[in-house]
Amino acid sequence: MNTAAHPAPAAGKDSRIDWARIRADFPLLARRVHGKPLVYLDSANTSQKPACVIEAVDRFYREHNANVSRAVHQLGSESTALYEGARNKLAAFLGAHRNEIVLTSGTTQAINLVAYSYALPRLKAGDAILVTTMEHHANIVPWQLVCERTGAHLKVAPITESGELIVEQFVEALGDDVRLACVTHVSNVLGTVNPVKELARECRRRGIPLLIDGSQAAPHLPLDIAAIGCDFYAITGHKMCGPTGTGALWAKREHLEAMPPFLGGGEMIREVKFSGTTFADPPHKFEAGTPNIAGFAGLGAAVEYLQGIGMAGIAVRERELLEYATHALEGVPGLRILGTAPGKAAVISFLIDGVHAHDLATLLDQEGIALRSGHHCAHPLMQFYGVPATCRASLAFWNTFEEIDALVAAIARVRKLLA
Ligand code: PMP
Repeated sequence: MNTAAHPAPAAGKDSRIDWARIRADFPLLARRVHGKPLVYLDSANTSQKPACVIEAVDRFYREHNANVSRAVHQLGSESTALYEGARNKLAAFLGAHRNEIVLTSGTTQAINLVAYSYALPRLKAGDAILVTTMEHHANIVPWQLVCERTGAHLKVAPITESGELIVEQFVEALGDDVRLACVTHVSNVLGTVNPVKELARECRRRGIPLLIDGSQAAPHLPLDIAAIGCDFYAITGHKMCGPTGTGALWAKREHLEAMPPFLGGGEMIREVKFSGTTFADPPHKFEAGTPNIAGFAGLGAAVEYLQGIGMAGIAVRERELLEYATHALEGVPGLRILGTAPGKAAVISFLIDGVHAHDLATLLDQEGIALRSGHHCAHPLMQFYGVPATCRASLAFWNTFEEIDALVAAIARVRKLLA
């Protein structure tokens, strides 16, 4: 049923994919919240998990649980195969070699690894790291911390009012002082998809390494890291149908070989003597301690699940949902969308005249609608727009056009309450 004024795209536009069946893969989506059907519009925060991922984690503990790389027994080799299998699957997903994939707890750890192992030893007073106005705190604060320790400073490439990076100004800022550029692939607040290939080309021309925060790209777009041409690419598993506490850093082999370890301990050594320690080859050199093995068993299943649907099909589906939602929300009196870049991803930040974002999100929750309000870990972006917070509806391929209608109808009811 589609009750909105804007008809949904012809059903079955991509007839190979049965989206209703795919939605049924997500047990949690059948929940009710405050007596209403759950409408989950907070995927940019964390995605819901399909049953195959939940079962992979459950199966790990029921059937395979052992530590990785240490045991010669059967369980140990099964566990190691699942953990290393996740690396292989991520490598195929990203178009990279498995030895260039460091498994981490998420994007935050991946970026901190680059900050402390790559940037810190290289930076000196007067050097700069270039970021953009639309970065998540995870791609700002680690750089500020290493700047404080080295006397380097941050440079910020500006964006337009519509939320697009001003590429000429980014390129102009790539001066001799810049030792590293750090850009999000897709903005978690605006949905802007940055022209990362072009940015990588400009960085390469000047011999400046480029780190890309791929947290919001990996769940939504087909990726080919080799084709992008960057130096570092960070992803987080929990936004791509995987468990929390999983993620990865892809880095060029030459960087991984040159970088010293970030954390020391078991699993990352070749030989330890009191006179000195030699380290394992990358990527294991960066994976000290017992990792989140069950989580990576789940992430391996998540990557297979996404690939089974196909990232190209997911991107088309989400574009249709985004167009429908944008059109529907634009019809709400007094509603303003922040982030209108062409080709943006399915993230809609909005404000409604006279209504505080938190009040709106709290009342929408009573209607069963889960969306995020706040600064979205992007204070500088909020400062740019001069607002303390926005409401953010973020869509995923399992969402429906009816859920968007439900959001618009609930906003109308809530506004009456707040009027
Ligand atoms: N970067 C972006 C663009 C994000 O959206 C997020 C998660 N909100 C992060 C980094 C941090 O990811 P994690 O907390 O999983 O490390």
